[in-house]
Amino acid sequence: MLDSTDRSALLDVRGLTTRFATDRGLVHAVEDVSFSIRPGEAVGLVGESGSGKSTVLRSLLGLIQAPGRVSSGQVLFRDRDLLQLPEREMRGVRGGQVSLIFQDPVNAFNPSLTIGDQLRRMLRLHRADEPSDGFDREIVRMLARVGVDATGKLNGYAFNFSQGQLQRIMIAAACLAGTPALLLADEPTTSLDVTIEAQVLQLLRDLRQELGLALILVTHNLALVAELCDRVLVMYAGRLVEDGDVYSVFEAPKHPYTRQLLQSLPRFPASGERLEPIAGSVPDLLSVAHGCAFAPRCEQYIGAICDSEVPALVPASASQRAACHLYA
Ligand code: SF4
Repeated sequence: MLDSTDRSALLDVRGLTTRFATDRGLVHAVEDVSFSIRPGEAVGLVGESGSGKSTVLRSLLGLIQAPGRVSSGQVLFRDRDLLQLPEREMRGVRGGQVSLIFQDPVNAFNPSLTIGDQLRRMLRLHRADEPSDGFDREIVRMLARVGVDATGKLNGYAFNFSQGQLQRIMIAAACLAGTPALLLADEPTTSLDVTIEAQVLQLLRDLRQELGLALILVTHNLALVAELCDRVLVMYAGRLVEDGDVYSVFEAPKHPYTRQLLQSLPRFPASGERLEPIAGSVPDLLSVAHGCAFAPRCEQYIGAICDSEVPALVPASASQRAACHLYA
């Protein structure tokens, strides 16, 4: 398992903290999150809605907009802190070395520009040293690689393509326009039906292998993580609460939240066990937790320390870390 100072890391996130100013006060969306990713490694970032996982992804790429702000931390990608790069340089990193796939392929494209124009712009940005007269041929080749026959269709608009085709076009733009080493995917199959989802998953698996891409997959779907990822990071109330290899975390979760989360989901094949929903609700991120944010819902609560000290992420097994006083 990587700790957050491993020198072999492709991405090394240290103490990332992102907050949003609202009329009701400061929302502590992401608090002191640290993790690392090796080249080619696939990591699932999971948690309930509002746990901060999508905000982590957007913070990594400098996509947090006012009233939000990354208030502290470092995002070291190939030893450069992305949080310190001027926006002009970040535009080259986004889509060039680090790419992002959004949940909703329809809204990811500008409806008033042709698909060809949007992809030509991307190639112009990431392949400035290549002659632009070959771009259309290259776009058709890129789209063929992801299973979209675009011959004669580059003048079409987003509404001329199906949702599944748009998702494939977005994947082509993310993986093939530049030379990314890291792909960030935010719920990439949520809006697709089951058959198309399986095809898109296979495509992502193939492209990762072919291009040696590392992946951060944000999802609430743990089955997807089991299929695609080597490691899983579990978030709760803006903090990382467990980090470990997929097999260990699914077989023997260490953090009580991960354990209760897995007990609340159906298993395939069905085990016959009763599903146990997690009692209570997620905490209000407006208030600063002085102890463990999961304490009011925790079935393994061990006493006053849970209410008074925020637990640090510490080793909980040979391949897992957990932020819980059970392992202090
Ligand atoms: Fe439960 Fe305490 Fe661990 Fe929090 S720190 S998960 S309340 S045992």
